[in-house]
Amino acid sequence: MIDIQKVSKSKLDNVSFEKLDFGKTFTDHMFICHYKNEEWTAPKIKPFQPITLDPSASVLHYGQAVFEGTKAFKDDKGKIWLFRPDENFKRFNRSAHRLQIPELPENYFYEGLKKLIQLDSEWIRPGVGNSLYIRPFVFASQPTVQATASLEYIFMIICSPVKSYYDGVEINVLIAEEYSRAANGGIGFAKAAGNYAAQFYPTSEALKKGFQQIIWTDADKHEYLEEAGTMNIFFKINDTLITSPTNDRILDGVTRKSVIALAKRKGVKVEERPIRVSEIIDAHIQGELSEIFGTGTAVVILPINSFSYKGISYTLPKKNNLAKNLKEELIGIQYNQIEDPLNWTLSID
Ligand SMILES: *Cc1c(COP(=O)(O)O)cnc(C)c1O
Repeated sequence: MIDIQKVSKSKLDNVSFEKLDFGKTFTDHMFICHYKNEEWTAPKIKPFQPITLDPSASVLHYGQAVFEGTKAFKDDKGKIWLFRPDENFKRFNRSAHRLQIPELPENYFYEGLKKLIQLDSEWIRPGVGNSLYIRPFVFASQPTVQATASLEYIFMIICSPVKSYYDGVEINVLIAEEYSRAANGGIGFAKAAGNYAAQFYPTSEALKKGFQQIIWTDADKHEYLEEAGTMNIFFKINDTLITSPTNDRILDGVTRKSVIALAKRKGVKVEERPIRVSEIIDAHIQGELSEIFGTGTAVVILPINSFSYKGISYTLPKKNNLAKNLKEELIGIQYNQIEDPLNWTLSID
C-alpha cells in the first residue's frame, strides 16, 4: 500500500503550458521509497519537495545511480496512455543490476507510476506535442565514503509536463574522433547517470563549434557509428534503414525498437549491424544516403541535417520522408489516434 499525502493547493495555475522549457517544471506530487535492511519499503506519494541527504551519501561521491525516461499522453477523449512501460521497467532493472543496485519490485514501479499519474492527471494537456515526461530514478543514499556498493537506496518518480522540442530546428552533428561515450565491458547499455556526465564536456565543446549533438563512435578506433548524443541513430542508404546492433555500448532504446518494428511492417528493409563512418561518407558521395535520424523518448524521431567528419561537412537532403512517416505513425499510436497493431500502449484509468 502506498501512503499518499496530497498537496493542499495545486501549482497548476502558476504554469504557462505554452512556454514550457524541457524538464524544468514539475507536477504536484512525487513517489519515493527506500531500500534498507535488504528490502524496498515504505512507498509514499508526497507533495513535490526537496529531499535531504547526508553529505557523505554514496551517490554524491561514486555516482551509483540509474534512471529511466518515459511519457504519458492524453487522447482526444481525455484518456491517459503510457507507451511500452514494461520496456522501461525491464531496462531499469537491467541498468540497476549492472550498477550493483538492488532491483525494484514490479509493483512499486507500476503502482507508483499509476497512482502518481492519476493524482497529477490535470498536468497532462491533450493535443499532440503535449505530454508528461516521467522520470523514475534510483540512487545510493547510504551515508559513507567507503568505495563499495551502498547498502541503502532511494527510488523516486518525478514528472514534468513537456511540449515537443527541437521542432523545426536544424540539427548539425559532429562525428566523434577523440572522445567516447562507452567502451566494451562498460556501462554504455545502462541508463547510468555517469554516462551523461561524461558527455557534457565533449558536447559543450561541439556546441561552441556550432553542432547540436555528437555522433559517438566506437571507443577503439572511432570507425563505427554508435549513437547520436543521447539518442539511437539510424541511416537510410538506398532503400535500407541501418542502425547499430545493441551490445554493451549501445542503449537499447524503446523508440529504437519501435521504429525498427514499424519500419519492417511498412516493408522497409532494416539492418541492425555495425556501420562505418566511411560507409556513410561513401554513400553520401554516391547520393545514396538520404536520411539520418536520432530516436529517443524525449524527441521521438529527430532528423539530422548535416554531419561533420575530419573538418568536412556533409549536408543531407531535406526531405526526410521516412523519418516523418515513422514519427507520424508512432505519435498516432502514442496518442491513441490510430490502431496500435503491436499492443504497445497501456491506458491508465
Ligand atoms: C535513453 C537513451 C536513448 C533512447 O532510449 P528511449 O528508450 O528510446 O528513450 C538512447 N541512447 C541513450 C544513450 C539513452 O540514454
